[in-house]
Amino acid sequence: MNKITILGCGTSTGVPILGCKCQVCQSNESRNKRFRTSAVIELPDKKRILIDASPDLRSQLLKTDIDSLDAVIITHDHADHTHGMDDLRPFGFKSGKSLPVYADASAAKDLRRKFPYIFDRENYFKEKAILGGGIPLLDLQTTQEGFQLILGHPFEFFSLPHGHEDTLGILHEKMAYIVDCREIPERCVKRLQEAQLDLLIIDCLRPHPHQTHLHLELTLEYIRRINPKTAILTHMGHEWDYLNLIHELEKRGVKNTFPAIDGCSYLYSSS
Ligand SMILES: [Zn+2]
Ligand SMILES: [Zn+2]
Repeated sequence: MNKITILGCGTSTGVPILGCKCQVCQSNESRNKRFRTSAVIELPDKKRILIDASPDLRSQLLKTDIDSLDAVIITHDHADHTHGMDDLRPFGFKSGKSLPVYADASAAKDLRRKFPYIFDRENYFKEKAILGGGIPLLDLQTTQEGFQLILGHPFEFFSLPHGHEDTLGILHEKMAYIVDCREIPERCVKRLQEAQLDLLIIDCLRPHPHQTHLHLELTLEYIRRINPKTAILTHMGHEWDYLNLIHELEKRGVKNTFPAIDGCSYLYSSS
């Protein structure tokens, strides 16, 4: 079996939001505490692939006891998915080897611009030695929509419309990870239907529509059409109280669909 662990299921601010006095942000319910969205896939050969380097990455990896990684996939270049990049330093200290980081052309360009000391090392340091605590050892690989072998395992990427740039949707064996998109193009819906998913992890920002994200009505419509065995809602804002959302799903007669919880793992089979 393959395993995916949700490191964070919160929107870009995280939940609670700093300074917010709303009921969800003030609640003691642990399932309302959400780190920024990211996840780790553990393959049957025990290799691990990180999906996104959120600004909470260090705390997320400590909490889930993840002490090794073999590759990273970046879904898109927004801050809530990339600003934990520097937390990947210790993996290089240990192995002395670079981790491959997969991103599409637009995200790769932005990563080089935002983190030149990591991804454009030669130009950044020129003749100067790297002093101090060292830098993350990461090897940026540009990928695109379509099939891609990662660590010898089959992955398929989809370009999903988000803001000004696209997000990479991920299909791995019988699991799909679809975050930060305002819609799922028909060709992707069709492919995900064919894949007969065990698990669909999908954006569900809030109850009402948003310019760049899926909201409940739309998320549930895609789940109904894609028809996975289990659907997990992620990238959730402070509009969602965990238990209220469970009740809302029950009221609508929605089956096998649950809000994500930080730190929870889910199994899925190979195709
Ligand atoms: Zn996001
Ligand atoms: Zn709040």
